[in-house]
Amino acid sequence: MIILALDALDLKMVKRYRCKSLMQREHGQTDISEFKLPRTVVLWASFLTGVNMESKIPIKTQWSFKLKREDTFLRFFRDYKAIDVPALTYKDEEHAKVRRLLKAYFEEQADVEEYDETIWRIHQENKKEFLSSIGEHEILIGYFDLADSIGHLSFGISEKMEVVYRELESLAEEVKSSTDEFLLVVSDHGMDAVGRYGDHTMNGFYSANRSLKLGTPGITDFYRIIKEGTR
Ligand SMILES: [Zn+2]
Repeated sequence: MIILALDALDLKMVKRYRCKSLMQREHGQTDISEFKLPRTVVLWASFLTGVNMESKIPIKTQWSFKLKREDTFLRFFRDYKAIDVPALTYKDEEHAKVRRLLKAYFEEQADVEEYDETIWRIHQENKKEFLSSIGEHEILIGYFDLADSIGHLSFGISEKMEVVYRELESLAEEVKSSTDEFLLVVSDHGMDAVGRYGDHTMNGFYSANRSLKLGTPGITDFYRIIKEGTR
């Protein structure tokens, strides 16, 4: 099984840029309105455990919060690889660099190009690791935050977001051309424009290359499906 965990992937953008590989046989939105705030770490931790983790993850220390394999659906698999997954194998130092550049941007100490370059570099490194791991593990999870991180400073700039969505579409296309394993594409939340910037919304995205008949699931509903996917 393969999970493409795409931070902030948004259904309206997937449709706008006609990302056919991301829109698989079944696709739609998730509803995360059970959460007070659409926090990335909380949402991925809830996805991994099948439980709403909001009250267990304080805002102040959220980025260093880590789950054990046994706390997650990974325990149902003989072996796994999880690349850069928040609350699990998140590359803390790399993402701390991005957050520092974001802060510096608002303090007029860094420009958006430097911020974008760092995000793209992390993306390309994770992509290489992810693509070379296909077929090597019973479950493979690749986390990519391109749409979220670029979106935060540039969601209102459509030429830039089109490049981001084309890249994520080609990533899904590459997965589908190299395997017919169960592929779940899922995001934690969506995004709306606030001027040139982007802000989290309460609807994520999901798609699967098989019929799941989910309607509008919550992010914790995938736990059962992933567990059953091992059979
Ligand atoms: Zn997020």
